[in-house]
Amino acid sequence: MLSVRRVVNSKLCIGCGLCSVETQTGNIKFSKKNDCYIPSITSISNDSIANKICPGKGYNILESGKKLFPDSKQYDIDLGYIHSISAVRSTDRSILRDASSGGIITSLLLYLLQEKIVDKVSVTKFVCTTSGVSTKTFLTSNIEEIFAAQGSKYCPVNYAHLINELKQYKGRVAIVATPCVIAGIRSIEENQPACFSSKIEFTIANFCGGFKSYTNIKKLAKVHKVDYKNLKDFRFRGGGQPGSLRFISNDGQVAETPYPKYVGFTGQSKMLRCHLCADATGELADISCGDAWIPRYEEDQYPWSVVLTRSARGTALLQNMNEKNHVVLDQMSIEEVKLSQRFNLKSKKTRQAARMRLYKLLGYRRPSFDGGYREIDTGLSTEIQVYLKHQFKLFLDKLGLYKTIYSCSKKN
Ligand SMILES: Cc1cc2nc3c(=O)[nH]c(=O)nc-3n(C[C@H](O)[C@H](O)[C@H](O)COP(=O)(O)OP(=O)(O)OC[C@H]3O[C@@H](n4cnc5c(N)ncnc54)[C@H](O)[C@@H]3O)c2cc1C
Ligand code: SF4
Ligand code: SF4
Repeated sequence: MLSVRRVVNSKLCIGCGLCSVETQTGNIKFSKKNDCYIPSITSISNDSIANKICPGKGYNILESGKKLFPDSKQYDIDLGYIHSISAVRSTDRSILRDASSGGIITSLLLYLLQEKIVDKVSVTKFVCTTSGVSTKTFLTSNIEEIFAAQGSKYCPVNYAHLINELKQYKGRVAIVATPCVIAGIRSIEENQPACFSSKIEFTIANFCGGFKSYTNIKKLAKVHKVDYKNLKDFRFRGGGQPGSLRFISNDGQVAETPYPKYVGFTGQSKMLRCHLCADATGELADISCGDAWIPRYEEDQYPWSVVLTRSARGTALLQNMNEKNHVVLDQMSIEEVKLSQRFNLKSKKTRQAARMRLYKLLGYRRPSFDGGYREIDTGLSTEIQVYLKHQFKLFLDKLGLYKTIYSCSKKN
């Protein structure tokens, strides 16, 4: 597996900040090089634990899942170890208002605090300063802060501040993160138990199709004719399902586009590591949550989430929430979950072997996994086409022509 140095030099770093685990936050410098929080590799020694836990290099998705969830009911190559599957929505309209889908992550966090199962939870909020947009992930038990942090952050998120808080905090916590970061946190738990030992009661992952760098947000600000460095607020999702991207400037100007229409506004591609990712649903998290993109939920008056629990403990938690009327549960089959995530699963699980082969031929260093995607090579032609399409979009974006050409192609 790759070292942190190799991960950074090969542009596989996703800026998660977990490599700060051995140091005080102040000792490791993260610069927004490549428009992502890249660590200064000179501060990471060759024998550092960071080399073991860095999710940029890949991870043992099969072996770890098996170890973590011995009481799961089935293993599925697309979805990982599963104990239960449900469609879920919050019963609280104030949670649904700014949720990405059915508000399940926020409902879970509030329930865990209310029932005193944990003392604090982690959330991620956007921060707007004169340098532009960034994120902050932190521990809290404050309800207003949990509400204010709702909505998906489709950009690199640095967890270094959280890692530092976790080291010092003595209480029990629940952590929300992307699948790769949950894998990194599992690895810290395994390799440095003194750091987090018995503090993390629950891990919650979002399903993940990947994210783009901060250049994308800068470009979206330009398209929306707002000053990236003079923002009061920014969001990718929120305001009901499917929600909208919204910039609010310090002078009160509001610019908004529905999700996912704005995805075609820039030619920016996902981060390299996200193109080479085999984890679609957070296979190492206790509970994984995504959007229920199938007609019977899309057409419902309420937004719905898909939830996979990986152990009896997670299932019991969800059932208790249902019994106490915090959430509504609906039966969902494994086929329906796959249908709702079909594009992401096809990319990460079915086409992955061919994509890995293409990137190897092109000379890229790749993350490694102990399986977790289909070994059958679906052939290079689709991967070459997709790769060239991304390069062409980036080229048009650099020329400032992407949105015009994209808009024309949509009209025709
Ligand atoms: C990068 C990314 C990619 C995604 N891709 C898919 C996909 O392909 N398919 C799919 O079905 N769903 C995807 N999701 C998940 C989806 O957007 C929702 O998060 C999910 O449906 C749960 O919605 P909710 O209503 O429960 O969330 P909310 O009630 O809005 O709560 C979301 C919680 O997650 C936290 N959070 C948001 N973004 C991050 C982040 N980047 N890191 C850590 N914490 C965060 C927030 O602070 C909040 O606590 C993705 C999410 C992210 C962040
Ligand atoms: S741990 Fe995260 S921030 Fe550090 S090198 Fe790896 S991917 Fe990058
Ligand atoms: S696509 Fe994979 S590597 Fe990228 S953020 Fe999601 S889980 Fe992490």
